[in-house]
Amino acid sequence: MSERLILLTNDDGLWAPGLAALARAASRFGRVVTVAPDRNRSAISSALSLHNILRLHEVGPDRHACDGTPVDCVLLGVCEVLGRRPDWVLSGINHGFNLGEDVFYSGTVGAAFEGRLQGARAAAFSIHPQGSLEQAEPWIGRFLERWEAMDLPGNRIWNVNFPKGEPQGFRLTSQDSRAYHDLVERRTDPRSTPYFWIGGDAGPTYAKGAGSDAEAVFEGFASVTPLRLDLGCPETLARQADFNAAFNG
Ligand code: MN
Repeated sequence: MSERLILLTNDDGLWAPGLAALARAASRFGRVVTVAPDRNRSAISSALSLHNILRLHEVGPDRHACDGTPVDCVLLGVCEVLGRRPDWVLSGINHGFNLGEDVFYSGTVGAAFEGRLQGARAAAFSIHPQGSLEQAEPWIGRFLERWEAMDLPGNRIWNVNFPKGEPQGFRLTSQDSRAYHDLVERRTDPRSTPYFWIGGDAGPTYAKGAGSDAEAVFEGFASVTPLRLDLGCPETLARQADFNAAFNG
């Protein structure tokens, strides 16, 4: 069997410490090739560059910086750098959680979805903003030792979040929901023109539903959430009669 080929990326940028920790954890599982954004591209979701050119710079052996998005990095990684489908696409370790609806904004998660669309087994890794990468690293090793024991159907990825301290174990979790407060902040620049800052100061409040990703990390566990790219709604599709009455009646 040929050596396992592992493509690494993130959305915090090539020089983020979380990416280095992920590379160290992944290195004993195969040949690790990193293609990552040349700057922080957080919260860029699955954005794809269609209207500007992309540049790739080899900054070291099997380490490439790209001036595109995380999804661009996966595509260039597969099509240009590797020239074949990688076995695994790993994204992260993101500085900060990707819990609940954060997964829709996350470039870390977007890159993992792209890896899956390219036919690889794919996972996104994130950690509490004050979490310890040194503590998370062996847990990534433990995850990667075991994750091939569970096959996911097509267009599914694993979304893994690490708590602040030493994890007490892995938990299989659902996607929670969260609310951000004071999302858009209005300020005034030195020339008295208003400007806006998204994010607010308070940070998100998670519902921490039973069995959810947020509940797990706040109880000290590593949360492992299977995510699907198909956002379809089977319970609504089952209501054909209601639909026809409402729209075609
Ligand atoms: Mn990020």
